[in-house]
Amino acid sequence: MTTMKKELVVIGGGAAGFFCAVNAARMNPDLHVIILEKTNKLLSKVKVSGGGRCNVTHALFEIVEMSKCYPRGQNFVKKSFHQFFTTDTIKWFEERGVKLKAEKDGRMFPVTDSSQTIIECLMNETNSYGVEIRMNSEVRSLKLEGEKFQLELSDFRHLTSDFVCIACGGYPKTSMFQWLGDLGHNISEPVPSLFTFNLPKHPINELMGVSVEKARVKIEGSKLVEEGPVLMTHWGLSGPAVLRLSAWGARELSVKSYEFKAHINWLPEFNEQNLKEQFQNFRSSNSSKKIVNHNFGFLPNRLWQFLLEQSGVNNETRFADLSSKSENLLIKNLVDYVVDVKGKTTFKEEFVTAGGIKLLEVDANTMMSKKIPNLFFAGEILDVDGVTGGFNFQHAWTSGWIAAKAVAQYTSGTYKSATQGKLNG
Ligand SMILES: Cc1cc2nc3c(=O)[nH]c(=O)nc-3n(C[C@H](O)[C@H](O)[C@H](O)COP(=O)(O)OP(=O)(O)OC[C@H]3O[C@@H](n4cnc5c(N)ncnc54)[C@H](O)[C@@H]3O)c2cc1C
Repeated sequence: MTTMKKELVVIGGGAAGFFCAVNAARMNPDLHVIILEKTNKLLSKVKVSGGGRCNVTHALFEIVEMSKCYPRGQNFVKKSFHQFFTTDTIKWFEERGVKLKAEKDGRMFPVTDSSQTIIECLMNETNSYGVEIRMNSEVRSLKLEGEKFQLELSDFRHLTSDFVCIACGGYPKTSMFQWLGDLGHNISEPVPSLFTFNLPKHPINELMGVSVEKARVKIEGSKLVEEGPVLMTHWGLSGPAVLRLSAWGARELSVKSYEFKAHINWLPEFNEQNLKEQFQNFRSSNSSKKIVNHNFGFLPNRLWQFLLEQSGVNNETRFADLSSKSENLLIKNLVDYVVDVKGKTTFKEEFVTAGGIKLLEVDANTMMSKKIPNLFFAGEILDVDGVTGGFNFQHAWTSGWIAAKAVAQYTSGTYKSATQGKLNG
């Protein structure tokens, strides 16, 4: 007697969809797995990510520390990482011949420095485990009828399936979530995350290419503050500190229509008072020297000159000649330089959508919908997003793997709750 294979349809041929599909097919060979991808490209974000190198994950090995890098979904990933963490990602790829390396800032890339290595690895897995891939297949609607899902594609083709994993990535507009809202799921409104700040026509833009290793940037009228590298670009401010602010402030800054004042402390170990004391000591022991040649806080020279100019100090001014008005202004500009941000620019290296399926409606231990049995979610479609540095892919791998494990176990009748331990790799 032959038994019909159970089917899992994965919607979306991105990182999360592939990871779910290949792992489910491997963990339960009795499962027929199909990936439906609306475009004619597979893993397109993996391809361009990290400047074509694919920043696969981040070298953080403590779940609590890692979870702090997710402005949305912190508690959710704290649970999911117990099942599949950064260490598991590294091991998973290594077992398939893809070695990862960590850079100084913690970002991890394949040693080949090519995203194609990751793509080939995932494609090989689909071949090894018989995952079927159908491109140009956009799912338009989905409903559960009896025990089967009925899927309708945009070209009116129909499909049925026992299990569905939605891994369709983030959508920029609420209207694009309609087909998921029709399922009865609630959506946290999408807003962009990971962007840089525009300072139209600001003189600081002339410093493009200059970066400060550690500055503190604060958004006026909010609790948003970040410390880290800041980079001047020809349109405004970028760098990790700015990108992190854009992620933590994704909603708040969207409400402000991306118009706000940012306060920059170029010497974050100092405040106005202790800098004044230090400056005055320095000034009295160097009174005959030209200020421009004594870059007091070891800032990049172009920035030091710019801040002097902004404080009315010219190249010839000596410490002895500095007026108290200029001294006060220079100290203020060093620890509290204020810029008017007007608008944002997408960070091309990595951008994500904050928002998506509300997490209260999804079980973090299985990625299964709490509203519809046998419906799973993985990746950016969930209301989880991380700061830049490999955190978004880690969530895609983790959620894809957990959904795969749950489907594989449900279909083989070996379902164990998350607390009953992990399946092998
Ligand atoms: C330029 C860029 C660089 C990035 N670099 C990094 C990085 O280096 N590190 C990092 O951690 N993160 C990075 N990210 C973020 C990361 O790429 C995403 O978080 C991750 O790809 C999300 O994976 P996903 O599978 O959930 O969604 P996606 O990769 O977006 O895949 C979803 C797929 O679903 C398809 N789809 C959508 N709707 C349907 C439908 N109705 N029917 C069928 N198919 C559908 C889409 O066409 C798409 O192929 C980057 C993002 C961008 C844009």
